Amino acid sequence: MIYALFYIIIGFLAMELSGWFIHKYIMHGPLWRIHKTHHEHTKGYFELNDLFSLLFGSIAIVLIFLGLENFDYRFWMGVGISFYGMSYFFLHDILIHRRLKFFGKPKKGFLAGIFKAHQAHHASRFRDGSVSFGLFFVPFKYFKKRSR
Ligand SMILES: [Zn+2]
Ligand SMILES: [Zn+2]
Repeated sequence: MIYALFYIIIGFLAMELSGWFIHKYIMHGPLWRIHKTHHEHTKGYFELNDLFSLLFGSIAIVLIFLGLENFDYRFWMGVGISFYGMSYFFLHDILIHRRLKFFGKPKKGFLAGIFKAHQAHHASRFRDGSVSFGLFFVPFKYFKKRSR
């Protein structure tokens, strides 16, 4: 049980850390042409940028599949990545970007902090000069009451 939990957490953290890195150096780098669609107001419901979610989702599925026989670490890391994907979708796509209009803007607490931090990321429409590339781990200033 502890074993499973450990790898679920590893999978989750690995996503936030590698996600931060990929977002900052690859999506706002060589693959900006794809990620750009998320910084512009595009017309349709889907963005080319959604390909990244598909990619991460497939990694999780492959890991779960590989670890299925013995429920080894690959299985649990795949579960952790899936948890991350679901939380990411819920917070980033539904709560922050309101692709499904379930909720209004969070006013206080942790959710309001990550909301502000991600808005700061979207303040720029350009490849360079953006801030705040993570989703959950963001600078503490965004959690203070009156930050921008
Ligand atoms: Zn970005
Ligand atoms: Zn966004």
